[in-house]
Amino acid sequence: MNRFRVLLAIAGCLLVLTGLLSCSLANRLVNTVLQPTIIADVSAIASSPEAVQSGTSLPGEQAASDTPLAESKISTPTAMTIQPTPTSLQLPAEATAPPAEISPAEQAITACAEEVCVFEMPYPLVRPIGPGGRVDVDPSYRFGTSNRGKRDVHHGVEFLNSAGTPVVAAADGLVVFAGDDLQKQYGLYRNFYGNFVVLHHEMPGFVESLYTLYAHLSEIDVEEGETVRAGEQIGKVGSTGAATGSHLHFEVRFGENEYFAARNPELWLAPLPDEEGQPRGFLAGRILNPDGKLVPLPNIVLERLTGPGLPAQDTIYLSTYDDRRLIGKNPWGESFASGDLPAGEYQITFIKGGIHTRIVEILPGKITLVSIRINQ
Ligand SMILES: [Zn+2]
Repeated sequence: MNRFRVLLAIAGCLLVLTGLLSCSLANRLVNTVLQPTIIADVSAIASSPEAVQSGTSLPGEQAASDTPLAESKISTPTAMTIQPTPTSLQLPAEATAPPAEISPAEQAITACAEEVCVFEMPYPLVRPIGPGGRVDVDPSYRFGTSNRGKRDVHHGVEFLNSAGTPVVAAADGLVVFAGDDLQKQYGLYRNFYGNFVVLHHEMPGFVESLYTLYAHLSEIDVEEGETVRAGEQIGKVGSTGAATGSHLHFEVRFGENEYFAARNPELWLAPLPDEEGQPRGFLAGRILNPDGKLVPLPNIVLERLTGPGLPAQDTIYLSTYDDRRLIGKNPWGESFASGDLPAGEYQITFIKGGIHTRIVEILPGKITLVSIRINQ
């Protein structure tokens, strides 16, 4: 592996002579994103200021759709049923000397080379709603969706609650913003978030920081520079800013406190228990064409299977994230996801030049990452 890196670094430096890449860039690519292949690179491009300001030209979109993802490591499925491979954050043998820029935990997560990998949650967050409030994510406006273009592409999730419901910190952290966006733009436009709070969190085992954002608050109970504990009240639910009805808009940002650093909160929130009290699980997915490019799909049906010959239940309708700048980003590299799934077998169905189905197992409290390669 190390010899391979050196060879790649040398090859990268040679490219400098042709004016294509700088040596430092080549070395950085080798050192930081070799394990996740191009996933981290995609996010770097997609979260650049140019990508954010580009409007319709979308360099990030181009990068996401044209970038090989995990290339030939993902095998072509030969069976309809995929058995999960429990990896649980164990480093692959070849990754015993991780580069300084990427932590062992991140490396393990992004090193999934199988069609299905199962991970522990690296940093489970507390539900950001206090006692007595609704703690389930609103399924009608999931992360990355836009209701077929009728709404802004969602960079967070909603917790539908009445005004005044306590909003609590999702983890121990530092208040890095507490105020409003009337004078300065932080989202898509001014007065987008209304009254909002941003917390900064240090994740054990991660070089990257995590940020959580709580918007549309009717009241803010913390000040910048203050430290808070998980579950501590930081404000109250409201409808300030661009809110339709009172709810909490909750965002998770990975690496930097930027609008396009948003990640799907459903993959970070500790799972709710199912009817038997067992933790639910998570699905993160990506659909790849033969070149390893991520395929956008508006309709993905997820059904919970109950047994041979029995009807499926809990049908969930998903789609790949509508803004490709949100797709394929580290640490999971997913393009669609759902949390809070009761453990068990699920069937994923979508149409792309024919009907495709996969059966995947969701395990309690675990994140199942499935990479589906299609021939379209
Ligand atoms: Zn929202």
